[in-house]
Amino acid sequence: MSSHELFHAWNILKIRPKEMMPYDFGKAPVFPTGFVAEGFTTYYGDLFLVQSGVFDYQWYFNELSTLFQRHFHNGGRLNNSVVDSSLDLWVDGYQVGAPNKKSSIYVEGAMVALTLDLMIRSKFNSRKSLNDVMSVLWNDFAKKDIGYSINDIQLICEDVYEESLSQYFEENVYGVKDKTELISKLLKEVGCELSIKSNENLLEGYLGLKTAEQDGTLVVMSIEEKSLGEKHFSFKDKIKKIDGELVTKDTIKGLKPGIHTFLIERQAKEQEISIEASDSLYLKIRRIEKIENPSAKQKDLFENWLNLS
Ligand SMILES: [Zn+2]
Repeated sequence: MSSHELFHAWNILKIRPKEMMPYDFGKAPVFPTGFVAEGFTTYYGDLFLVQSGVFDYQWYFNELSTLFQRHFHNGGRLNNSVVDSSLDLWVDGYQVGAPNKKSSIYVEGAMVALTLDLMIRSKFNSRKSLNDVMSVLWNDFAKKDIGYSINDIQLICEDVYEESLSQYFEENVYGVKDKTELISKLLKEVGCELSIKSNENLLEGYLGLKTAEQDGTLVVMSIEEKSLGEKHFSFKDKIKKIDGELVTKDTIKGLKPGIHTFLIERQAKEQEISIEASDSLYLKIRRIEKIENPSAKQKDLFENWLNLS
């Protein structure tokens, strides 16, 4: 978090969206580039910690994998673009919002930063990176007290990439295209892969439910669309007991697939439902892993990306 906040000393305190130049406290600060302000900062906050040698690449892989879970487990990524999410920020701030309808400028913006960085690095064999985009923002905007627009961001990226990125921006910044294919392709460029495994947590993998523990009770916070859980559960249901036992985030891990009886509380009314949960189909676990036997080029790109040698 300190690393993230330190990067803000440049990115947002000095490198600022034009809508905040100057900052007008009498108006709602609506701006479309939250993915640059918070997403790029989220990406760099972690990346710098591995590039500077504070943490090793395994630590970084865990951070990236967490980012992948936050991205891929939120159905809202397919309904709410990162630009729309940024414009909505003023309206509902940091509220969780309706399930599968909202996305986060932090998560989606970090995915944009990661994919742009890897695209630039692989195209130019590490001679260029997203750092070149940040340098232009620093030298041509921040130092001259000029705010950037969303068009400036696209133009700077295209200038660095030396090619049109209109399709990329249409799909990933203004649009809600699924990123599985893009991220798999880009991780391969740096000798890694997106591994996808089934989720053995009964509520997540077998039912598609994400829960949070509130006052010792598991509460449904999101439900994967078209999942088995969607047929039986509602947002904010309290799961009071499973098979007559109290459940917590820890004890849920010991539950095996099969027929289970859930005692739930919905709008202050308790009810019991019996569900056969036998296949882990939902909320799959995505991780970045190194591939075996990378080529010299893949190895080189990987080491340059994370500054390992
Ligand atoms: Zn921040």
